[in-house]
Amino acid sequence: MKINNILKKYEKGVSFEFFPPKTDKGKKALKKTADVLKTYNPLYVSMTYGAGGATQEKTKEAVNMFRENKDLVVMPHLTCIGVKSSVLENLLNEYKESGIKNIMALRGDPPQDNLTFDFSDQEFSYGKDLVRYIKRHYSDFCVGIAVYPEGHIETASLEQDTDYTKQKVDAGADFAVTQMFFDNDYYYALLDRMKKSDINIPILPGILPLTDVSKVKQFAAICRTTVPPHIEEEMNRYKNNPDDMAKVGIDFTIKQCRDLIKNGAKQLHFFTLNKPSIMTAILEAIR
Ligand code: FAD
Repeated sequence: MKINNILKKYEKGVSFEFFPPKTDKGKKALKKTADVLKTYNPLYVSMTYGAGGATQEKTKEAVNMFRENKDLVVMPHLTCIGVKSSVLENLLNEYKESGIKNIMALRGDPPQDNLTFDFSDQEFSYGKDLVRYIKRHYSDFCVGIAVYPEGHIETASLEQDTDYTKQKVDAGADFAVTQMFFDNDYYYALLDRMKKSDINIPILPGILPLTDVSKVKQFAAICRTTVPPHIEEEMNRYKNNPDDMAKVGIDFTIKQCRDLIKNGAKQLHFFTLNKPSIMTAILEAIR
């Protein structure tokens, strides 16, 4: 089923994002995670993709593992930077033939060892080019896009960010998932900006459970996500006790979810980090 139709049909629910495991141990663990989280009847699950196709085979394998769980809708992510359309075509044909109905269309990030990467000299320069390509050649796919409550790290202003999001929507995007955020006001402001720009697709809040604040801070810095100083300070009090630090973080995430729900966000998307116990603690608390 297409995710845009699922989001219309079910007023509330959760969705889960996973990354493809690299090892046999990781694969086994993901199967267990899938079994645990399936009991929460997710609206859909999604599987990330390494930029430049780095995890192409592993993403496909993990997508198939989830599809064996027949009643789960699975959405593979796909990135286009530095990729030829012939490569995308093969993969999209495979997905289409196997019955996949949804694709998360992303630009991806340039190779880390090439800081002077020329975005304009590409067959696909931006996420919007991939959205347009999929909609033109595979009109049957429902297409998701990424949006950024605090603005994408490369954009000069929130206005510019909104304009570029609008281009992805005009290219045919059906729904969006946000970058992680820890201050809900950024999400509410994003919704306001989108509404004012006549962007009316569903925008699911992307939630990263907080467990290790220093790791999250490092990642947040490259994603332009603010970690509120009060939670950083509170978690850092437990820096010698990771379990206690995680408890404080999970409590924070539960409060974050409750506030989102109270303010009208009934469909929440979780970046699970493939960790079922953290997810179940949060899901049980917000049931
Ligand atoms: P775009 O929408 O193309 O934006 C990228 C930059 O280009 C922005 O600064 C934007 O403002 C600018 N821009 C856009 N259009 C134009 C234009 N017309 N002219 C000039 N500038 C423009 N990465 C992965 O590699 N694999 C994944 O599986 C993955 N999953 C993700 C899931 C979510 C929910 C999110 C939020 C991100 C994910 N990412 C993933 C990261 C994503 O690939 C990066 O954030 C990437 O830098 C931007 O991708 P995009 O599709 O949003 O890019």
